[in-house]
Amino acid sequence: MTLLTFRFAPSPNGELHLGHAYSALLNQKLAKASGGRLLLRIEDIDTARCTPHFEAAMLADLKWLGLGWEEPVRRQSEHFPEYEAVLDRLIREELVYPAFMSRGEIRAFIADSERRGRDWPRDPDGVPLYPPADKALPMQERRRRIAENAPFAWRLDVGAAMARLGNELSWAEFTDETLSTTRSVEARPLDWGDVIVARRDIPTSYHLAVVMDDALQGVSHVVRGQDLFSATGVQRLLQELLDLPPPAYFHHRLILGPDGRKLSKSFGDTGLAALRAAGASPDDVRRMVGL
Ligand code: GLU
Repeated sequence: MTLLTFRFAPSPNGELHLGHAYSALLNQKLAKASGGRLLLRIEDIDTARCTPHFEAAMLADLKWLGLGWEEPVRRQSEHFPEYEAVLDRLIREELVYPAFMSRGEIRAFIADSERRGRDWPRDPDGVPLYPPADKALPMQERRRRIAENAPFAWRLDVGAAMARLGNELSWAEFTDETLSTTRSVEARPLDWGDVIVARRDIPTSYHLAVVMDDALQGVSHVVRGQDLFSATGVQRLLQELLDLPPPAYFHHRLILGPDGRKLSKSFGDTGLAALRAAGASPDDVRRMVGL
């Protein structure tokens, strides 16, 4: 029988908090219970916000918690050429296009459209979908702007991608922490519009890197927060386009702050470093997250 493979995949762009601790410890518990593997992946493609300082602090917090993972750790920033090769394939297959609108231009376009009485569609996170204009730009115009060094991002033409597949997409979602049964969830990538798959200077995005790495590392079980539940639809689409085997998913409950809101990576009293400094033990942290 093949070993089950789990992973914890934090981004070193801030301090770890109780929500990360829950996710990491739940992955560890499930890997142990099944005699499976636990991998750690550093998701540091955002080279402006992810720093060696945050990474070192994160590793120290995880060691203190008693996490334990297989070496070597995969660090996404060390694999840009691999992502670039896959991006090139998506470019060749005309599944992505260069999107040139700046945030300000997008805002103005949408405000203008809403002034004329049309509610602009938003993604499940409430962010307005990218306007369709750039999709219609002639190839020559795209080349001209790129040659002139205009800023742009590569966006997935989700409509074209769905049309290419021609059938419905779904994923297997575990129904609870025991991972005993799954249900099938319909993937709805169109809800997100044309998502970014790479930037001009960084040949990947979160979605592209996560599906490539989960497949490359043989991850069989993706256990992560509920906040990524509907984004899984985009990732299923990329897996199909790139012929990558889909893992099964469990999107766990989120640990909320005292105000009932999702924790953020700001320095608060739910930060692991702060809890440790205040005298909490790893067992206290386990209790606080209900494990
Ligand atoms: N790197 C992502 C984060 O820190 C998690 C990605 C995932 O688990 O798929 O939010």
